[in-house]
Amino acid sequence: MRWQSVILAVFILASVTLVGAVAFAASGKRPPPANAFPGAPDEYTRFTVAELRRGFLALAFGSDLRIGARPRGIRRFDHSIRARVIGGGSIDRTAATERILEEYARKVPELNLTLVQAPPADVEVRLIDEKDFRSALRAAFGAQVAHTFIRRTDPQCMTSVKSTAEGNILRSVSFIIVDKGNEVFLDCAYHELLHAFGLSSHDQHNPWTKLNKRRVVGYLTV
Ligand SMILES: [Zn+2]
Repeated sequence: MRWQSVILAVFILASVTLVGAVAFAASGKRPPPANAFPGAPDEYTRFTVAELRRGFLALAFGSDLRIGARPRGIRRFDHSIRARVIGGGSIDRTAATERILEEYARKVPELNLTLVQAPPADVEVRLIDEKDFRSALRAAFGAQVAHTFIRRTDPQCMTSVKSTAEGNILRSVSFIIVDKGNEVFLDCAYHELLHAFGLSSHDQHNPWTKLNKRRVVGYLTV
């Protein structure tokens, strides 16, 4: 009985410490940049090694819908990335999407990302209206996959990442909704591109990432 109490006490202490680390370690808070939508959240600029490690492990493994062999490790491009925006929908957001890709290229130079205007592209960003979302998924992935994905995840935007069993990404395709306002567009575009570059999962316990589906960010935070 006494041993059980000791074990329980240690466990609770460990839990409290862990929650404390997740909730309070990030620092260096600053307001969002000028290009963010009105009301976008502040960003934190400094994180502990433990936060970065935990965040990376949570985001780099798994996905909402996996088809075929499970990759043995993380998924990533093992070569430079050619990204192309395929405009569409009732609001022209091609230039805005290209600016977001250029921002990723500038701030994350290790991606080796360049914008191209013609195929072939490693990352395709397709801009569509919300009413065309389901039919676009069906056309791209077939009725069965589109139906399963929509039923399981109720997505607003989506990204498909095709990779080898070793985890090398062959091609990513993102669908971004353009006709539901700036907030939805910006949040989707930054979020889906993180998926396209290989961070396949979400983390609802991480308050800093734009891959937390409850958090609407709309700009590239630190
Ligand atoms: Zn997502």
